[in-house]
Amino acid sequence: MLNIKNLFADINDKPILRGVNLSVDAGEVHAIMGPNGSGKSTLSAVLAGRTDCSVKSGSVSFLKKNLLDMEIHERARFGLFLSFQYPVEIPGVKNIYLLKASVNAIRKHQDKRELKGGEFLKLVRDKLNEMQIDESFLHRNVNEGFSGGEKKRNEILQMQLLQPSLCILDETDSGLDIDALKIVADGINKMRHEDRGMILITHYQRLLSLVKPDFVHILSHGKIQESGDAGLALRLEKEGYDGLSKFK
Ligand code: ADP
Ligand code: MG
Repeated sequence: MLNIKNLFADINDKPILRGVNLSVDAGEVHAIMGPNGSGKSTLSAVLAGRTDCSVKSGSVSFLKKNLLDMEIHERARFGLFLSFQYPVEIPGVKNIYLLKASVNAIRKHQDKRELKGGEFLKLVRDKLNEMQIDESFLHRNVNEGFSGGEKKRNEILQMQLLQPSLCILDETDSGLDIDALKIVADGINKMRHEDRGMILITHYQRLLSLVKPDFVHILSHGKIQESGDAGLALRLEKEGYDGLSKFK
């Protein structure tokens, strides 16, 4: 599904990604861990197509297309979803309008008819229930004044409505209380599917004990330094980065 080969990328002329290799197949959940500032969010930004990240070399294919040639909105329509580490507030744009417009843009791309107001409301109400988000959040401006945990739950709500092929979740567990973590983890698990790939960027084993990854990678200094199964995250929690030989 996703094939990243020897990817180098700069931000403001500063090299951040320095030879990332990663393959994600449909049905797989990959966790990416790594020290602060190692390039995890930059990798997600490059995949989503943020324009201030400049790709220097390497390639990324997504469902057999050259991802790096696509515009941000094309990537989204084609099934790539990024949940932001720091979800942005969009004053003046009601949450429900953003959600409905996004869902219908993707439906249009898939040659499906657009959902009307009532149909969309029915769909979104089911998901609101699952994510335990009050309906009043639909009528507030996107993320404006939401608490950290409410923003993260709203990101998962978006993901559930858009039904992407590849979900990249950047520290969706950070800032969540224990109950919200459980709700978010359940929401992620419900999205696990043989046709869908997932990349979870996280610092913590507590998310990975609820959403068990098939693979764990450690990104450091702009490169994946070590890969393993779920046991690698457990080892990391016990020993820290210092305990892993490659980080000494
Ligand atoms: P992580 O998500 O792994 O904590 P990031 O990808 O956010 O790390 O950041 C990697 C490095 O890139 C950091 O050193 C950060 O300061 C730097 N960086 C990110 N965005 C910018 C920017 N807009 N300008 C300059 N440096 C940046
Ligand atoms: Mg980050």
